[in-house]
Amino acid sequence: MQILRGEPLQPYNTLSFQARAAALVRVGSDEDLLAAFRWAAEHGLPVVPLGQGSNVVLAKDLDALVVRQDTRGIEIIGEVDDRVSLRVAAGENWHALVQWTLQQGLYGLQNLALIPGTVGAAPIQNIGAYGVELQSCLLRVHALVIADGRSLTLSNADCEFGYRDSVIKHSLRDKLVITAVDLQLSRVPELSIGYPALAEAFAQADAGSLTPRDVFNTVVSIRRGKLPDPAVEPNAGSFFKNPLVPAEQARVLIAQFPGLPAYPQQDGRVKLAAAWMIDHCGWKGYRQDDIGIHPEHALVLVNYGNGTGEQMLSLASAVAAAVADIFGIQLVIEPRVYR
Ligand SMILES: Cc1cc2nc3c(=O)[nH]c(=O)nc-3n(C[C@H](O)[C@H](O)[C@H](O)COP(=O)(O)OP(=O)(O)OC[C@H]3O[C@@H](n4cnc5c(N)ncnc54)[C@H](O)[C@@H]3O)c2cc1C
Repeated sequence: MQILRGEPLQPYNTLSFQARAAALVRVGSDEDLLAAFRWAAEHGLPVVPLGQGSNVVLAKDLDALVVRQDTRGIEIIGEVDDRVSLRVAAGENWHALVQWTLQQGLYGLQNLALIPGTVGAAPIQNIGAYGVELQSCLLRVHALVIADGRSLTLSNADCEFGYRDSVIKHSLRDKLVITAVDLQLSRVPELSIGYPALAEAFAQADAGSLTPRDVFNTVVSIRRGKLPDPAVEPNAGSFFKNPLVPAEQARVLIAQFPGLPAYPQQDGRVKLAAAWMIDHCGWKGYRQDDIGIHPEHALVLVNYGNGTGEQMLSLASAVAAAVADIFGIQLVIEPRVYR
């Protein structure tokens, strides 16, 4: 285990911000991770786990031991009828896992194709896309507690999942490092194609003959055509969460702003499209120096070169203030901010 001092974090975050870690270590096992915890405690540094850095805004140097997990492994741990349980190491790449499951004839993750990042980070915000969230197939999360190295297992219910949310963003924030995730998938295809973009893509298709592979291919092709590639235009995906509001508030807003996309949720609330609101306020395509809002995606903030995290956060504040002013809604930043 090699501890690197003063390590640049630019290659470790998809916004490509220049920040340094007081120390960084890449760990390949739980034993390494425990040794890293001890090293951090001895040096009085907090531990910050980092996966592929696709959901962080590094607005300052991290006075911490940054831990990058290089653990690998996908194991079938149980099989009952057509249900198959998997244990996946935190360091595995999420999209590679989705591909692997399809190759094995295991279904449930196809709508979540091409989401950047690691398996270990996936439960933090209950990753979701195209009408499916991780919580629909997550059995449990395995973690080590930073303070004392204790093993902790969280059931699906313990995770308190919500829209881009979990207990790990609240009471367990900064307290643990996820080491593995157990998932339950099915050998029998169950397709979820009700999400508007998928429903549109499959409008002419014979629903009975569609396969999970068709859904995977379509999600990949929609995402490739739609989302800016962080390797070309550094970004962190959606910068703001879509607001969830009571049905009555949504009704009033839709009457006032016809065209505002609104999606009723099972709990009675309505999800509103933050991108539409930002666009309506005139921010889409805005750019100052090297920080801007993507010209085609109002939810995606981009670092065009030498922008800083603080500049991006200041732009985000201006956008949120405009939306609050016009719509009376407070936008919430989706990625984890370090400032
Ligand atoms: C182009 C693009 C598209 C995206 N599309 C989507 C999408 O469709 N849906 C969606 O939900 N998200 C999306 N995201 C966001 C991102 O991909 C996910 O949040 C992903 O799960 C982050 O994984 P990561 O490994 O990069 O995490 P990081 O960015 O490295 O970390 C995110 C947070 O999780 C913590 N963390 C990371 N690993 C661990 C661990 N093992 N244990 C404890 N804490 C940990 C970090 O400390 C940090 O606070 C997108 C991002 C980009 C850049």
